[in-house]
Amino acid sequence: MPDSALDNRKIEIDRRGPSNRLGHDYALEAERMPAPPCEIIDVHAHIGGPKSARLYARAAALFGITRVYSMTQLEAVPEVKEALGDLVRFNAVPDWSNPDRKEAMGRDFLHRIERFREHGAGIVKLFAAPRMRDAEEKLGQPGALALDSPMYRDVAKLASELGMSIMTHVADPDTWFAAKYTDQDKYGTKRDQYRPLERMLDEYDVPWIAAHMGGSPEDLGFLSGLLERHPNLHLDTSACKWMLRELGAQPTEDFRAFMDTWRGRILFGSDIVTMDDHLEETAANELAMKANGQQQAFDLYASRYWTLRRLFEQDGRFESPIVDPDLHMVDPERYPEDAAPEVTCHGLDRSLLKMIYRDAARTFFKID
Ligand SMILES: [Zn+2]
Repeated sequence: MPDSALDNRKIEIDRRGPSNRLGHDYALEAERMPAPPCEIIDVHAHIGGPKSARLYARAAALFGITRVYSMTQLEAVPEVKEALGDLVRFNAVPDWSNPDRKEAMGRDFLHRIERFREHGAGIVKLFAAPRMRDAEEKLGQPGALALDSPMYRDVAKLASELGMSIMTHVADPDTWFAAKYTDQDKYGTKRDQYRPLERMLDEYDVPWIAAHMGGSPEDLGFLSGLLERHPNLHLDTSACKWMLRELGAQPTEDFRAFMDTWRGRILFGSDIVTMDDHLEETAANELAMKANGQQQAFDLYASRYWTLRRLFEQDGRFESPIVDPDLHMVDPERYPEDAAPEVTCHGLDRSLLKMIYRDAARTFFKID
């Protein structure tokens, strides 16, 4: 085998990872893809540090993303701002590193919201996933971190007073209710998660985004009911693996009809999480490992944009290049640990894509 062939093979092997099971060159794939019909606003990401932010910016530029709303730790906001400039805006989050959850989600969060506001943030995140029951258990205060708890209401009240909107995370994938939240007395059913949300939507009449297709990409009919009952509710398309698995399993006709009916209420989001640790090298061969870390981090970010755009823009089906551990978790007999779903693309028309990618977010965030 000639040296060059060996090199090629090595590159291909090095490229494979959990975000790249098929050994794609995502930069090349971005070039091959037709340009999006408009610039893209990503309303849901977590940009963690300046180094990964710069690598993220490369992926974002390749796939046409011109603005990202990031849930960055307050302390990292100045350096992320410096790294990303006008690309980034912020979504106010509590201090997740504070082990005192009551302080972190309570008084300290209220202070932080004011400081995020000084950085131009126009939205607040209220995290209300079922796993908060575990945190409450540690606190010894059942219900303290429910979406409609007094603590969360203080946050919603402050956000309303400051003219900010609210993003929330309710529920979780059906797969998690099947495999993780099996203790129904503790976590409730999936439907139970929505009662506090509906109460809060009525009581705090600011614009809301329920992340990850409102936590129910599995059930578009249920989402239509929620959107119908609450005119201030919006959804984002973030959490790539979840969306590929579930939106990629919806019949195209149903998905198109849903997205068309709720024009302006559904915003593009990725839930890309970047951390400077992604870029860290750990082994003796520093240069190689660093390149590997960089490559895998880039693939982690780029794969989300590539696959979400394919899901919405293209026709046909594709095998997801991203490992989806939920498949194995729910059905280990059928799916190996590195399995990924077959995704049905929905080929949305250009006017609908413009609405999801740009115009709905412009209206939501009052961008001129
Ligand atoms: Zn998120």
